[in-house]
Amino acid sequence: MNNTVNRKASRQVVVSSGRRVSPGRRLLPGLLMAVALLAISLVAVTPADAVARTDINRAGIEQLIEFRRKREKLVACEEIVHMPTDFGEFDLHLYRSTIDGQHHLALVKGSMSARRRTLVRVHSECLTGDVFGSRRCDCGPQLQQAMKQVSAAGHGVILYMRQEGRGIGLHNKFKAYSLQDQGLDTVDANETLGFEPDLRHYGVGVQILRDLGVRKLDLLTNNPKKVAGLSGFDLEIVNRIPVEVEVTDENRTYMKIKKSRMGHILGNC
Ligand SMILES: [Zn+2]
Repeated sequence: MNNTVNRKASRQVVVSSGRRVSPGRRLLPGLLMAVALLAISLVAVTPADAVARTDINRAGIEQLIEFRRKREKLVACEEIVHMPTDFGEFDLHLYRSTIDGQHHLALVKGSMSARRRTLVRVHSECLTGDVFGSRRCDCGPQLQQAMKQVSAAGHGVILYMRQEGRGIGLHNKFKAYSLQDQGLDTVDANETLGFEPDLRHYGVGVQILRDLGVRKLDLLTNNPKKVAGLSGFDLEIVNRIPVEVEVTDENRTYMKIKKSRMGHILGNC
């Protein structure tokens, strides 16, 4: 008898009032809340929401994420620190994507205003180029050039998106480099590995820019697809400003492929 009482008592928990309740009763409020939230999400929608929801049912995970990127705030600014650099003084904002937990950086010069045009560079991480000065690509010099231009303008943002290797990740980028060493170009190497030539997306970047207060911008890029990728999310891209850097013997072939096969606008190769 005592054992039965003890087993029953051990399954009970003390709530804040000091009462002892069984686990089943403890779960009930949470369950009711979940049902209420589900009911609200099903009922409290406009016709446009209903159509969008029908579309979602037909689409896959990617489309669902894209839908959330457009309609929900999916970034959080976690820290802001002062960042003096070789190219001037900035504030460095650390953002986190709530979709995948990935961190991205925004190097900010001056204060943002919805009415004022902001000079923006959206730079995708290239560890080999940005950190080691790799001459296989033009990423490092482009990043430095953009920092110089934003610093000189006294007002702008360099968004540093952690999508290494045009979105395929560091390991696959190394595999792609290995294939390029065997004679494939950058597009064929990615396709041989089973990837699209460019898997980058800019929805999270748009959200960070909007969170910073940017609405109108001049975009520093040679890539028209980046202009298209950033447009249409309540951001107005007023001008595309080229970021042309020196073409070297080592990156000349790569640059030509970017021009001929990826549509980059490059006047110097
Ligand atoms: Zn690079």
